[in-house]
Amino acid sequence: MKRIGSNLRPADQKPQRNLTNIIVYSEDEKPRNDYPEKIISPALPKSCCTDENRELVGNTKEVDGFKFCYKICQVCGHAVRYFYPAVETNDEAVREYRAWKRYMAQ
Ligand SMILES: [Zn+2]
Repeated sequence: MKRIGSNLRPADQKPQRNLTNIIVYSEDEKPRNDYPEKIISPALPKSCCTDENRELVGNTKEVDGFKFCYKICQVCGHAVRYFYPAVETNDEAVREYRAWKRYMAQ
């Protein structure tokens, strides 16, 4: 994916690798939790994939002010990357990121 404006910022300011999705959706492989390297998940969630059955895996990560974690259904192994709802923050990095996003939208 080509990112417009990516030449305007030094590369080391955007820790893209932390946003890499480690979930591999596959119907051929058995569900497996190899966190933090890889999580193999069924392609589609089922009726068992409720909030009660989904268990938090590993630690909550925060990248550019967005908190997320991985959750795996304990019944079928379906995994999702769960983003916490955005909260207002005074964190400078977040303001900067949102200003950058606005710039990108123009
Ligand atoms: Zn499930």
